[in-house]
Amino acid sequence: MRLAQKVTLVTGAARGIGAAIARAFVAEGAFVYLTDLDDENGNAAAGALGPNAAYARLDVREEADWRDAVDRALSERGRLDIVVNNAGITGFEAGATAHDPEHARLEDWRAVHATNLDGVFLGCKHAIRAMRPAGAGSIINISSRSGLVGIAGAAAYASSKAAVRNHTKTVALWCAAQGLAIRCNSIHPAAILTPMWEPMLGEGPERERRMEAFVRDTPLRRFGRPEEVAALAVLLASDEATYITGAELNIDGGLLAGSAASPG
Ligand code: NDP
Repeated sequence: MRLAQKVTLVTGAARGIGAAIARAFVAEGAFVYLTDLDDENGNAAAGALGPNAAYARLDVREEADWRDAVDRALSERGRLDIVVNNAGITGFEAGATAHDPEHARLEDWRAVHATNLDGVFLGCKHAIRAMRPAGAGSIINISSRSGLVGIAGAAAYASSKAAVRNHTKTVALWCAAQGLAIRCNSIHPAAILTPMWEPMLGEGPERERRMEAFVRDTPLRRFGRPEEVAALAVLLASDEATYITGAELNIDGGLLAGSAASPG
């Protein structure tokens, strides 16, 4: 019960990493608002978690949605302790659109930033508003290993995730300078097996080969599980992490630990 009584809002919680975070938080005693664009799966995910979870529609790009969802938490539960800015898109959801720096279309670049970066900006802004009266809280931004290195074929995704990393530190400094114990940290996952990967893995006999190719350079040589990311979020949300702010935590099977090149 490391999160007993803590009121939490998770974005993009209908599936994948967001759903796993919601599950882990409820298991640790939190009340969780699962939010998403996908009402059907969002309602189902919240329903499966019992009385300590509820679903609310929240398009992270829309400030009015943020106002409504945060105000609902404040009026129903009296406070908001934790916000997990998890919703994100790669830009590949709609199919094979070019996302390299030479061919990406401006509208696709902007669409990825609207969700991944504007969404996190709005989430942090309304989290601070909601947490200010209590003077404490934890904001967790799900960035990516793509926010720490360049990705030749996913320019907008990498740019947006790098900006999330940096904005996290700005929010941490702002809150600290205000005398608030509102912490803000980023998590940088890589290759976590969720529905986000489906457009890239595809179906059929090639699927297995593609999966192997994606994790070939990962020292642990496997995809990570959403639950493994959720465990890190539990730590950052809990009172065990009260001295951690402005930090970035990688969870990538060792991918960024060094080069695959070995001597001899
Ligand atoms: P999924 O695609 O499986 O889930 C993302 C969820 O976010 C979906 O339910 C999606 O709904 C929702 N969503 C998309 N756009 C919005 C929006 N504008 N407002 C609210 N919800 C939205 O992704 P993952 O669980 O894999 O990823 C979660 C986070 O982790 C993302 O930020 C991702 O970039 C990051 N990440 C993931 C990695 C991985 O390997 N899986 C690696 C590194 C980072 P809908 O289906 O309706 O679009």
